[in-house]
Amino acid sequence: NLTQRLSKVVKTLRGQARLTEDNIQEALREVRMALLEADVALPVVKDFIARVKEKAVGQEVIGSLTPGQALIGVVHDELVALMGGQSEGLKLEARPPVVILMAGLQGAGKTTTVGKLAKWLKEEKRKKVLVVSTDVYRPAAIEQLRTVAERAGVDFFPSSPEQQPEAIARAAKDWAERHFHDVLLVDTAGRLAIDQPMMDEIKALHAALNPTETLFVVDAMLGQDAVNTARAFNETLPLTGVVLTKLDGDARGGAALSVRAVTGKPIKFAGVGEKLAGLEPFHPDRMANRILGMGDILGLVEEARRTVDEHKAKELAQKLRTGKGFDLNDFREQIVQMRKMGGIGALLDKLPAQFAQAAGQLQGGMEEKAISRIQGIIDAMTPQERANPDIIKASRKRRIAAGAGVTVQEVNRLLKQFDQTQRVMKQFSKGGMGKVMRGLRG
Ligand code: GDP
Ligand code: MG
Repeated sequence: NLTQRLSKVVKTLRGQARLTEDNIQEALREVRMALLEADVALPVVKDFIARVKEKAVGQEVIGSLTPGQALIGVVHDELVALMGGQSEGLKLEARPPVVILMAGLQGAGKTTTVGKLAKWLKEEKRKKVLVVSTDVYRPAAIEQLRTVAERAGVDFFPSSPEQQPEAIARAAKDWAERHFHDVLLVDTAGRLAIDQPMMDEIKALHAALNPTETLFVVDAMLGQDAVNTARAFNETLPLTGVVLTKLDGDARGGAALSVRAVTGKPIKFAGVGEKLAGLEPFHPDRMANRILGMGDILGLVEEARRTVDEHKAKELAQKLRTGKGFDLNDFREQIVQMRKMGGIGALLDKLPAQFAQAAGQLQGGMEEKAISRIQGIIDAMTPQERANPDIIKASRKRRIAAGAGVTVQEVNRLLKQFDQTQRVMKQFSKGGMGKVMRGLRG
């Protein structure tokens, strides 16, 4: 499995000073095999390996890490990115009742997930929940939902096999509206394989309900088949997310790894057991840790990165203090660090008190979006340009603007801002807090 193969990777790279195209070749082969064994779709694997290679080759191995450990760090980051990076929750802000429509094949775990979600919404989100079944083909299915609702302690809207699924759905939504339910969970019928009548029915339900969330429920144990059904549903229905069930039984994790890449839709929840409590919001980083199963090494990677970040922050603070040698590389580094540490706050702790105050004033005006644009512009520069902004004349400006997808005016503005910052810092190193404050605001 991936853990075993990667342990081998760590060993093969022992004694190498840095990661090169040659020495990671074998390591990448192991990663590739491990992903294929985990039943990850081939195009996804190819893409993944290419990205890891691009990120890893030539990378300075930071701090105390061995190259093998550093590579694991890269693999981990790319696994997280593959699964969508951030964890994405449900949209619950819409006008109540917020309708959540569940779709999926029979046996995927829809009814169970409705119960789990109902319990989660009630207990974690303090929502008033109504559930309804439109599975009119199997009377036992409606009964199953009634039992589940009772155990979850939420309201159940009765339906019967003589009714039309759409009519049931409309009536339930109407009821939820009049009885002030926050959320309506709609369970649906599934077939053993995708067929047209089922697709037509779920489309009609979607049209009748106008749901805020349309979740595709899929059994993770089906591996690539899970991903293929997800793709088919995604082409018919505007899905908003995926629930991967039975992850407790799936050691391979292949579906978790490819479903996002193939459908573009986030995995929002993971089913991890038959009980009503067996549901977790899906966290790509936790899943990556689980798949890698290398808690010790990942801990080292994190620690090394933190140390490097701290080191860089200290170096930067030194430059800020003296104003000496502060160039656009540092400016960019400052921005990156700021974003990484979740804002300017953490960085401020490392600065001398007076400067921290001044920078605090600055913070208000620095919107996250503006910061990322600035970073984009600096990223489009060459290292020489960053070290020596004076060489950036008209044609370089045009190239940078095109590279960053901004106007030349914006590049000009950034250069001017940087020039001012630099000047302010020089004043600051000569003392005179008042001047600094004026400079920062100006
Ligand atoms: P539906 O046909 O899509 O409504 O599927 P059900 O909700 O009836 O579930 C089918 C089977 O899968 C049942 O035996 C459930 O107990 C089981 N199941 C559902 N979710 C999970 C899960 O996350 N883990 C495990 N181990 N079993 C699950
Ligand atoms: Mg069911």
